[in-house]
Amino acid sequence: MLKDTIAAISTPLGEGGISVIRVSGDDAVPLVERVFRSKTKLSAAQTHTVHYGYIVEPATSERLEEVLVTIMKAPRSFTMEDVVEVSCHGGIVSVKKVLDLLLQQGIRLAEPGEFTKRAFLNGRIDLTQAEAVIDLIRAKSDRAFKVALKQVEGKLSSQIKLLRHQLVELMAHVEVNIDYPEHDVEEMTNAFIRNKCDTVMAEIERLLHTAQQGKILREGIETAIVGRPNVGKSSLLNELAQENRAIVTDIPGTTRDVIEEFVNVGGIPLKLLDTAGIRETTDIVEQIGVERSKTALAEADLILLVLNSSEELQLDELALMQQLAKRQAIVILNKIDLERRIDVETVYHYFAPERVVELSLLEGKGIADLEKAISGIFFEGKLEASDITYVSNVRHIALLKQAKQSLVDALEANEQYIPIDMIQIDIRAAWEQLGEIIGDSVGESLIDQIFTQFCLGK
Ligand code: GDP
Ligand code: ZN
Repeated sequence: MLKDTIAAISTPLGEGGISVIRVSGDDAVPLVERVFRSKTKLSAAQTHTVHYGYIVEPATSERLEEVLVTIMKAPRSFTMEDVVEVSCHGGIVSVKKVLDLLLQQGIRLAEPGEFTKRAFLNGRIDLTQAEAVIDLIRAKSDRAFKVALKQVEGKLSSQIKLLRHQLVELMAHVEVNIDYPEHDVEEMTNAFIRNKCDTVMAEIERLLHTAQQGKILREGIETAIVGRPNVGKSSLLNELAQENRAIVTDIPGTTRDVIEEFVNVGGIPLKLLDTAGIRETTDIVEQIGVERSKTALAEADLILLVLNSSEELQLDELALMQQLAKRQAIVILNKIDLERRIDVETVYHYFAPERVVELSLLEGKGIADLEKAISGIFFEGKLEASDITYVSNVRHIALLKQAKQSLVDALEANEQYIPIDMIQIDIRAAWEQLGEIIGDSVGESLIDQIFTQFCLGK
Protein backbone atom coordinates (compact mmCIF):
# COMPACT_ATOMS: atom_id res chain seq x y z
CA MET A 1 0.00 0.00 0.00
CA LEU A 2 1.61 3.25 -1.11
CA LYS A 3 1.00 6.09 1.30
CA ASP A 4 1.83 9.73 0.85
CA THR A 5 4.37 11.15 3.24
CA ILE A 6 3.13 13.32 6.08
CA ALA A 7 4.80 15.63 8.59
CA ALA A 8 3.96 17.62 11.68
CA ILE A 9 5.61 19.18 14.69
CA SER A 10 5.17 16.53 17.35
CA THR A 11 6.30 18.43 20.41
CA PRO A 12 4.20 21.17 22.06
CA LEU A 13 4.93 24.50 20.45
CA GLY A 14 7.01 26.84 22.49
CA GLU A 15 7.66 24.41 25.31
CA GLY A 16 11.02 22.90 26.05
CA GLY A 17 14.25 23.54 24.24
CA ILE A 18 13.92 21.02 21.45
CA SER A 19 11.18 20.66 18.87
CA VAL A 20 10.72 17.51 16.88
CA ILE A 21 9.24 17.30 13.41
CA ARG A 22 7.98 13.82 12.63
CA VAL A 23 7.83 12.64 9.02
CA SER A 24 6.19 9.36 8.05
CA GLY A 25 5.57 7.60 4.76
CA ASP A 26 7.17 5.71 1.89
CA ASP A 27 9.24 8.68 0.77
CA ALA A 28 10.15 10.04 4.19
CA VAL A 29 13.87 9.36 3.80
CA PRO A 30 14.45 10.67 0.25
CA LEU A 31 12.28 13.74 0.81
CA VAL A 32 14.05 14.77 4.02
CA GLU A 33 17.38 14.03 2.38
CA ARG A 34 16.73 16.78 -0.17
CA VAL A 35 17.14 19.42 2.52
CA PHE A 36 19.55 17.70 4.90
CA ARG A 37 23.32 17.90 4.74
CA SER A 38 25.60 15.71 6.86
CA LYS A 39 28.59 13.42 6.64
CA THR A 40 26.51 10.32 5.92
CA LYS A 41 23.92 10.00 3.21
CA LEU A 42 20.49 9.47 4.78
CA SER A 43 19.42 7.02 2.10
CA ALA A 44 22.41 4.85 2.92
CA ALA A 45 21.88 5.06 6.68
CA GLN A 46 20.92 2.12 8.86
CA THR A 47 17.59 2.05 10.61
CA HIS A 48 17.47 3.40 14.18
CA THR A 49 20.43 5.69 13.80
CA VAL A 50 20.86 9.38 14.60
CA HIS A 51 22.61 11.85 12.29
CA TYR A 52 24.00 15.28 13.00
CA GLY A 53 23.81 17.91 10.29
CA TYR A 54 22.08 20.96 8.84
CA ILE A 55 18.77 21.69 7.21
CA VAL A 56 19.57 23.75 4.13
CA GLU A 57 17.67 25.64 1.47
CA PRO A 58 18.29 23.26 -1.46
CA ALA A 59 18.51 25.99 -4.10
CA THR A 60 21.05 28.15 -2.28
CA SER A 61 22.51 25.64 0.22
CA GLU A 62 21.88 28.29 2.88
CA ARG A 63 21.96 26.73 6.35
CA LEU A 64 18.65 27.15 8.17
CA GLU A 65 19.05 25.06 11.26
CA GLU A 66 21.40 22.70 13.06
CA VAL A 67 19.55 19.42 13.63
CA LEU A 68 19.68 15.80 14.68
CA VAL A 69 17.88 13.43 12.34
CA THR A 70 16.68 10.03 13.49
CA ILE A 71 15.75 7.30 11.03
CA MET A 72 13.35 4.48 11.83
CA LYS A 73 12.64 2.24 8.90
CA ALA A 74 9.44 0.28 8.33
CA PRO A 75 8.12 -1.74 9.98
CA ARG A 76 10.06 -0.93 13.16
CA SER A 77 8.49 2.47 13.76
CA PHE A 78 5.41 3.88 15.46
CA THR A 79 3.45 4.03 12.21
CA MET A 80 5.11 0.91 10.77
CA GLU A 81 6.15 3.17 7.88
CA ASP A 82 9.52 4.80 7.27
CA VAL A 83 9.78 7.52 9.90
CA VAL A 84 12.27 10.37 10.05
CA GLU A 85 12.37 12.66 13.06
CA VAL A 86 14.10 16.02 12.83
CA SER A 87 15.05 17.54 16.19
CA CYS A 88 15.60 21.28 16.04
CA HIS A 89 17.02 23.41 18.85
CA GLY A 90 15.70 26.71 17.67
CA GLY A 91 12.50 28.39 18.72
CA ILE A 92 9.10 28.25 17.06
CA VAL A 93 10.13 30.39 14.12
CA SER A 94 12.96 28.19 12.95
CA VAL A 95 10.98 24.99 13.48
CA LYS A 96 8.19 26.38 11.33
CA LYS A 97 10.76 27.30 8.68
CA VAL A 98 12.08 23.75 8.60
CA LEU A 99 8.54 22.35 8.42
CA ASP A 100 7.67 24.73 5.56
CA LEU A 101 10.76 23.64 3.70
CA LEU A 102 9.79 19.99 4.10
CA LEU A 103 6.26 20.72 2.89
CA GLN A 104 7.75 22.37 -0.21
CA GLN A 105 9.41 19.05 -1.02
CA GLY A 106 6.00 17.41 -1.50
CA ILE A 107 5.39 16.24 2.05
CA ARG A 108 1.83 16.82 3.25
CA LEU A 109 0.97 18.38 6.61
CA ALA A 110 -0.48 15.62 8.80
CA GLU A 111 -4.04 15.83 10.01
CA PRO A 112 -4.60 15.67 13.77
CA GLY A 113 -4.12 12.08 14.89
CA GLU A 114 -2.95 10.90 11.50
CA PHE A 115 0.25 9.29 12.78
CA THR A 116 -1.70 7.29 15.32
CA LYS A 117 -4.36 6.48 12.74
CA ARG A 118 -1.69 5.03 10.48
CA ALA A 119 -0.29 3.04 13.39
CA PHE A 120 -3.78 1.62 13.89
CA LEU A 121 -4.49 0.97 10.21
CA ASN A 122 -1.11 -0.70 9.81
CA GLY A 123 -1.87 -2.98 12.73
CA ARG A 124 0.73 -1.55 15.08
CA ILE A 125 -1.79 -0.72 17.83
CA ASP A 126 -5.44 -1.53 18.44
CA LEU A 127 -8.23 0.95 19.00
CA THR A 128 -8.11 1.03 22.79
CA GLN A 129 -4.42 1.77 22.55
CA ALA A 130 -5.00 4.52 20.01
CA GLU A 131 -7.66 6.09 22.18
CA ALA A 132 -5.31 5.87 25.13
CA VAL A 133 -2.88 8.04 23.21
CA ILE A 134 -5.59 10.73 23.23
CA ASP A 135 -5.94 10.26 26.95
CA LEU A 136 -2.19 10.54 27.43
CA ILE A 137 -2.22 13.85 25.65
CA ARG A 138 -5.03 15.09 27.86
CA ALA A 139 -4.04 13.44 31.12
CA LYS A 140 -4.35 15.91 33.96
CA SER A 141 -2.62 14.02 36.71
CA ASP A 142 0.05 11.43 37.27
CA ARG A 143 -2.55 8.81 37.94
CA ALA A 144 -4.58 9.57 34.85
CA PHE A 145 -1.34 9.39 32.93
CA LYS A 146 -0.51 5.98 34.36
CA VAL A 147 -3.97 4.65 33.57
CA ALA A 148 -3.68 5.83 29.98
CA LEU A 149 -0.20 4.41 29.75
CA LYS A 150 -1.46 1.02 30.88
CA GLN A 151 -4.02 1.16 28.12
CA VAL A 152 -1.38 2.01 25.56
CA GLU A 153 0.46 -1.04 26.73
CA GLY A 154 -2.66 -2.99 25.87
CA LYS A 155 -3.96 -3.88 29.32
CA LEU A 156 -7.63 -3.26 28.53
CA SER A 157 -7.28 -4.94 25.15
CA SER A 158 -5.89 -8.09 26.64
CA GLN A 159 -8.71 -8.23 29.18
CA ILE A 160 -11.32 -7.77 26.46
CA LYS A 161 -9.64 -10.42 24.35
CA LEU A 162 -9.79 -12.83 27.26
CA LEU A 163 -13.52 -12.24 27.63
CA ARG A 164 -14.11 -12.71 23.93
CA HIS A 165 -12.11 -15.89 24.06
CA GLN A 166 -14.40 -17.22 26.77
CA LEU A 167 -17.44 -16.36 24.68
CA VAL A 168 -15.97 -18.11 21.65
CA GLU A 169 -15.36 -21.19 23.76
CA LEU A 170 -18.91 -21.01 24.97
CA MET A 171 -20.27 -20.70 21.45
CA ALA A 172 -18.15 -23.60 20.27
CA HIS A 173 -19.28 -25.76 23.15
CA VAL A 174 -22.93 -24.94 22.54
CA GLU A 175 -22.50 -25.49 18.81
CA VAL A 176 -21.32 -29.02 19.42
CA ASN A 177 -24.23 -29.78 21.71
CA ILE A 178 -26.84 -28.44 19.31
CA ASP A 179 -26.08 -31.53 17.25
CA TYR A 180 -26.86 -33.83 20.18
CA PRO A 181 -30.17 -32.66 21.51
CA GLU A 182 -30.67 -35.44 24.07
CA HIS A 183 -32.24 -34.22 27.27
CA ASP A 184 -29.35 -34.54 29.71
CA VAL A 185 -26.96 -32.89 27.30
CA GLU A 186 -29.34 -29.98 27.04
CA GLU A 187 -29.41 -29.68 30.83
CA MET A 188 -25.64 -29.58 30.91
CA THR A 189 -25.49 -27.03 28.14
CA ASN A 190 -27.93 -24.80 30.00
CA ALA A 191 -25.82 -24.97 33.13
CA PHE A 192 -22.69 -24.30 31.12
CA ILE A 193 -24.19 -21.24 29.45
CA ARG A 194 -25.35 -19.89 32.81
CA ASN A 195 -21.91 -20.36 34.28
CA LYS A 196 -19.92 -18.80 31.50
CA CYS A 197 -22.28 -15.88 30.98
CA ASP A 198 -22.17 -15.16 34.70
CA THR A 199 -18.38 -15.17 34.73
CA VAL A 200 -18.05 -12.88 31.75
CA MET A 201 -20.78 -10.58 33.06
CA ALA A 202 -19.09 -10.26 36.43
CA GLU A 203 -15.90 -9.22 34.72
CA ILE A 204 -17.72 -6.67 32.55
CA GLU A 205 -19.37 -5.27 35.67
CA ARG A 206 -16.01 -4.95 37.35
CA LEU A 207 -14.68 -3.04 34.35
CA LEU A 208 -17.74 -0.78 34.36
CA HIS A 209 -17.28 -0.13 38.05
CA THR A 210 -13.90 1.37 37.36
CA ALA A 211 -15.44 3.71 34.81
CA GLN A 212 -16.53 6.29 37.37
CA GLN A 213 -13.01 6.44 38.75
CA GLY A 214 -11.62 6.60 35.25
CA LYS A 215 -13.83 9.58 34.47
CA ILE A 216 -12.57 11.36 37.55
CA LEU A 217 -8.97 10.79 36.56
CA ARG A 218 -9.60 12.04 33.06
CA GLU A 219 -11.77 15.00 33.72
CA GLY A 220 -11.04 15.96 37.28
CA ILE A 221 -13.28 16.10 40.32
CA GLU A 222 -15.50 19.15 40.10
CA THR A 223 -14.74 20.84 43.38
CA ALA A 224 -16.29 23.81 45.14
CA ILE A 225 -14.60 25.62 48.01
CA VAL A 226 -17.20 27.30 50.21
CA GLY A 227 -17.33 29.12 53.51
CA ARG A 228 -17.80 32.52 55.13
CA PRO A 229 -15.48 35.39 54.32
CA ASN A 230 -12.07 35.30 55.96
CA VAL A 231 -12.08 31.61 56.90
CA GLY A 232 -9.19 30.92 54.49
CA LYS A 233 -10.70 29.89 51.14
CA SER A 234 -8.25 31.92 49.10
CA SER A 235 -5.38 30.68 51.23
CA LEU A 236 -6.49 27.11 50.58
CA LEU A 237 -6.74 27.68 46.87
CA ASN A 238 -3.32 29.28 46.78
CA GLU A 239 -1.82 26.51 48.86
CA LEU A 240 -3.21 23.85 46.53
CA ALA A 241 -2.25 25.74 43.40
CA GLN A 242 1.26 26.53 44.56
CA GLU A 243 2.08 23.11 45.98
CA ASN A 244 0.83 21.33 42.97
CA ARG A 245 0.93 23.79 40.14
CA ALA A 246 -2.41 24.53 38.53
CA ILE A 247 -2.60 22.57 35.33
CA VAL A 248 -3.69 24.35 32.22
CA THR A 249 -5.65 22.25 29.80
CA ASP A 250 -4.71 22.20 26.19
CA ILE A 251 -7.45 20.27 24.47
CA PRO A 252 -7.80 20.39 20.72
CA GLY A 253 -10.74 22.52 19.72
CA THR A 254 -10.33 24.91 22.60
CA THR A 255 -8.00 27.85 22.58
CA ARG A 256 -5.18 28.41 24.98
CA ASP A 257 -6.98 31.19 26.76
CA VAL A 258 -9.89 28.96 27.78
CA ILE A 259 -8.22 27.87 30.96
CA GLU A 260 -9.83 25.51 33.36
CA GLU A 261 -8.28 25.61 36.75
CA PHE A 262 -6.95 22.26 37.82
CA VAL A 263 -4.95 21.47 40.89
CA ASN A 264 -3.41 18.13 41.53
CA VAL A 265 -3.93 16.83 45.04
CA GLY A 266 -2.01 13.66 45.77
CA GLY A 267 -2.33 12.61 42.14
CA ILE A 268 -6.04 13.34 41.99
CA PRO A 269 -7.02 16.16 39.69
CA LEU A 270 -9.45 18.66 41.17
CA LYS A 271 -11.27 20.92 38.77
CA LEU A 272 -12.01 24.00 40.80
CA LEU A 273 -15.34 25.71 40.25
CA ASP A 274 -15.92 29.41 40.63
CA THR A 275 -12.35 30.19 41.49
CA ALA A 276 -12.75 33.69 40.16
CA GLY A 277 -15.13 34.32 43.05
CA ILE A 278 -12.72 32.90 45.57
CA ARG A 279 -9.78 34.83 44.16
CA GLU A 280 -11.50 38.17 44.71
CA THR A 281 -9.39 40.10 47.14
CA THR A 282 -12.19 42.05 48.82
CA ASP A 283 -14.86 39.82 50.22
CA ILE A 284 -18.13 41.65 50.64
CA VAL A 285 -19.26 40.75 54.11
CA GLU A 286 -22.96 40.50 53.27
CA GLN A 287 -22.31 38.36 50.29
CA ILE A 288 -21.28 35.26 52.16
CA GLY A 289 -19.66 32.41 50.34
CA VAL A 290 -22.85 30.40 50.54
CA GLU A 291 -24.76 32.74 48.25
CA ARG A 292 -22.02 33.21 45.75
CA SER A 293 -21.24 29.55 45.41
CA LYS A 294 -24.79 28.32 44.95
CA THR A 295 -24.38 27.10 41.39
CA ALA A 296 -20.94 25.75 42.07
CA LEU A 297 -22.41 23.88 45.03
CA ALA A 298 -25.13 22.29 42.93
CA GLU A 299 -22.68 21.10 40.28
CA ALA A 300 -19.85 19.96 42.47
CA ASP A 301 -18.73 16.35 42.92
CA LEU A 302 -16.77 17.44 45.96
CA ILE A 303 -17.35 20.29 48.36
CA LEU A 304 -14.67 21.66 50.63
CA LEU A 305 -16.35 23.58 53.44
CA VAL A 306 -13.86 25.81 55.19
CA LEU A 307 -14.55 26.85 58.81
CA ASN A 308 -12.54 29.10 61.06
CA SER A 309 -11.75 26.97 64.11
CA SER A 310 -10.89 30.05 66.15
CA GLU A 311 -14.45 31.36 65.93
CA GLU A 312 -17.80 30.06 67.01
CA LEU A 313 -20.03 28.48 64.39
CA GLN A 314 -22.43 30.87 62.69
CA LEU A 315 -26.02 30.12 61.84
CA ASP A 316 -25.46 30.06 58.10
CA GLU A 317 -22.60 27.63 58.63
CA LEU A 318 -24.89 25.34 60.57
CA ALA A 319 -27.41 25.46 57.75
CA LEU A 320 -24.67 24.70 55.27
CA MET A 321 -23.43 21.71 57.27
CA GLN A 322 -26.94 20.34 57.44
CA GLN A 323 -27.25 20.71 53.68
CA LEU A 324 -23.87 19.12 53.00
CA ALA A 325 -24.09 16.22 55.42
CA LYS A 326 -25.44 13.94 52.71
CA ARG A 327 -23.10 15.19 49.99
CA GLN A 328 -19.52 14.31 49.20
CA ALA A 329 -18.11 17.00 51.39
CA ILE A 330 -15.05 17.56 53.54
CA VAL A 331 -15.04 20.02 56.41
CA ILE A 332 -11.83 21.91 56.88
CA LEU A 333 -11.21 23.31 60.35
CA ASN A 334 -8.73 25.99 59.47
CA LYS A 335 -6.55 28.21 61.66
CA ILE A 336 -5.80 25.52 64.25
CA ASP A 337 -2.70 27.54 65.14
CA LEU A 338 -5.09 29.92 66.93
CA GLU A 339 -7.03 29.26 70.10
CA ARG A 340 -9.98 26.97 69.41
CA ARG A 341 -13.48 28.42 69.81
CA ILE A 342 -15.43 26.29 67.36
CA ASP A 343 -17.84 23.69 68.71
CA VAL A 344 -16.34 20.56 67.16
CA GLU A 345 -19.04 18.34 68.65
CA THR A 346 -21.53 19.95 66.32
CA VAL A 347 -19.26 19.46 63.34
CA TYR A 348 -18.81 15.76 64.18
CA HIS A 349 -22.56 15.46 64.60
CA TYR A 350 -22.94 16.05 60.86
CA PHE A 351 -19.73 14.57 59.52
CA ALA A 352 -17.81 11.35 60.05
CA PRO A 353 -14.31 11.81 61.47
CA GLU A 354 -12.64 10.90 58.18
CA ARG A 355 -14.52 13.81 56.58
CA VAL A 356 -13.12 16.40 58.95
CA VAL A 357 -9.61 17.74 58.48
CA GLU A 358 -7.72 20.13 60.72
CA LEU A 359 -5.53 22.62 58.92
CA SER A 360 -3.36 25.58 59.49
CA LEU A 361 -2.88 27.19 56.14
CA LEU A 362 -0.76 29.82 57.79
CA GLU A 363 1.73 27.20 58.97
CA GLY A 364 1.12 24.85 56.05
CA LYS A 365 -0.04 22.03 58.29
CA GLY A 366 -2.53 19.27 57.49
CA ILE A 367 -2.49 19.33 53.69
CA ALA A 368 -1.51 15.66 53.56
CA ASP A 369 -4.57 14.82 55.68
CA LEU A 370 -6.74 16.68 53.22
CA GLU A 371 -5.29 14.63 50.37
CA LYS A 372 -6.00 11.46 52.27
CA ALA A 373 -9.59 12.48 52.95
CA ILE A 374 -10.24 13.24 49.27
CA SER A 375 -8.62 10.02 48.15
CA GLY A 376 -10.75 8.15 50.68
CA ILE A 377 -14.00 9.51 49.25
CA PHE A 378 -13.31 8.79 45.63
CA PHE A 379 -11.06 5.78 45.61
CA GLU A 380 -11.67 4.07 48.91
CA GLY A 381 -7.91 3.92 49.14
CA LYS A 382 -7.88 1.39 46.32
CA LEU A 383 -6.40 3.62 43.68
CA GLU A 384 -2.86 2.78 44.74
CA ALA A 385 -3.21 -0.71 43.31
CA SER A 386 -1.41 -0.05 40.09
CA ASP A 387 -2.62 -3.14 38.26
CA ILE A 388 -6.22 -1.96 38.07
CA THR A 389 -7.44 -1.20 34.60
CA TYR A 390 -9.66 1.83 34.53
CA VAL A 391 -12.19 2.06 31.76
CA SER A 392 -12.31 5.75 31.12
CA ASN A 393 -13.54 6.08 27.59
CA VAL A 394 -17.19 6.87 26.85
CA ARG A 395 -17.27 4.62 23.81
CA HIS A 396 -15.84 1.71 25.75
CA ILE A 397 -18.35 2.20 28.55
CA ALA A 398 -21.30 2.21 26.12
CA LEU A 399 -20.09 -0.97 24.43
CA LEU A 400 -19.45 -2.73 27.72
CA LYS A 401 -23.01 -1.89 28.78
CA GLN A 402 -24.38 -3.24 25.51
CA ALA A 403 -22.37 -6.44 25.85
CA LYS A 404 -23.62 -6.86 29.38
CA GLN A 405 -27.22 -6.41 28.19
CA SER A 406 -26.71 -9.03 25.47
CA LEU A 407 -25.53 -11.46 28.11
CA VAL A 408 -28.52 -10.62 30.32
CA ASP A 409 -30.73 -11.44 27.34
CA ALA A 410 -28.87 -14.69 26.76
CA LEU A 411 -29.28 -15.68 30.41
CA GLU A 412 -32.99 -14.89 30.37
CA ALA A 413 -33.51 -16.92 27.24
CA ASN A 414 -31.51 -19.69 28.84
CA GLU A 415 -33.75 -19.74 31.92
CA GLN A 416 -36.82 -19.99 29.72
CA TYR A 417 -35.36 -22.93 27.77
CA ILE A 418 -35.60 -21.05 24.52
CA PRO A 419 -33.91 -23.01 21.69
CA ILE A 420 -30.18 -22.81 22.05
CA ASP A 421 -29.47 -21.39 18.62
CA MET A 422 -31.55 -18.36 19.63
CA ILE A 423 -29.40 -17.94 22.73
CA GLN A 424 -26.34 -18.14 20.53
CA ILE A 425 -27.46 -14.95 18.79
CA ASP A 426 -27.25 -12.98 22.03
CA ILE A 427 -23.89 -14.45 22.96
CA ARG A 428 -22.61 -13.63 19.52
CA ALA A 429 -23.86 -10.06 19.89
CA ALA A 430 -21.94 -9.70 23.16
CA TRP A 431 -18.83 -11.06 21.45
CA GLU A 432 -19.19 -8.52 18.63
CA GLN A 433 -19.80 -5.61 20.99
CA LEU A 434 -16.66 -6.46 22.92
CA GLY A 435 -14.87 -6.70 19.59
CA GLU A 436 -15.84 -3.16 18.74
CA ILE A 437 -13.98 -1.91 21.80
CA ILE A 438 -10.70 -3.12 20.40
CA GLY A 439 -11.60 -2.15 16.86
CA ASP A 440 -12.33 -5.55 15.42
CA SER A 441 -15.46 -4.45 13.62
CA VAL A 442 -15.55 -0.69 13.39
CA GLY A 443 -16.67 1.26 10.38
CA GLU A 444 -14.53 3.84 8.62
CA SER A 445 -16.43 6.87 9.90
CA LEU A 446 -16.02 5.90 13.53
CA ILE A 447 -12.31 5.54 12.98
CA ASP A 448 -12.16 9.04 11.51
CA GLN A 449 -14.15 10.41 14.42
CA ILE A 450 -11.84 8.89 16.95
CA PHE A 451 -8.66 10.04 15.34
CA THR A 452 -9.64 13.63 14.71
CA GLN A 453 -9.68 14.14 18.47
CA PHE A 454 -5.91 14.10 18.50
CA CYS A 455 -3.56 17.01 18.70
CA LEU A 456 -1.57 17.71 15.61
CA GLY A 457 1.63 15.72 15.39
CA LYS A 458 0.44 12.63 17.21
P1 GDP B 1 -11.25 33.85 52.51
O1 GDP B 1 -11.92 35.16 52.68
O2 GDP B 1 -12.10 32.75 53.00
O3 GDP B 1 -10.76 33.64 51.13
O4 GDP B 1 -9.98 33.88 53.50
P2 GDP B 1 -8.49 34.23 53.14
O5 GDP B 1 -7.81 33.06 52.57
O6 GDP B 1 -8.46 35.50 52.35
O7 GDP B 1 -7.89 34.42 54.60
C1 GDP B 1 -8.39 35.42 55.50
C2 GDP B 1 -7.30 35.75 56.51
O8 GDP B 1 -7.04 34.62 57.34
C3 GDP B 1 -5.98 36.14 55.91
O9 GDP B 1 -5.45 37.20 56.61
C4 GDP B 1 -5.13 34.87 56.07
O10 GDP B 1 -3.77 35.19 56.18
C5 GDP B 1 -5.66 34.33 57.37
N1 GDP B 1 -5.47 32.90 57.50
C6 GDP B 1 -5.71 31.95 56.58
N2 GDP B 1 -5.42 30.72 57.05
C7 GDP B 1 -4.97 30.90 58.30
C8 GDP B 1 -4.51 29.99 59.32
O11 GDP B 1 -4.45 28.77 59.17
N3 GDP B 1 -4.15 30.56 60.51
C9 GDP B 1 -4.21 31.90 60.74
N4 GDP B 1 -3.83 32.33 61.93
N5 GDP B 1 -4.63 32.74 59.80
C10 GDP B 1 -5.00 32.28 58.59
ZN1 ZN C 1 -10.85 35.25 49.81
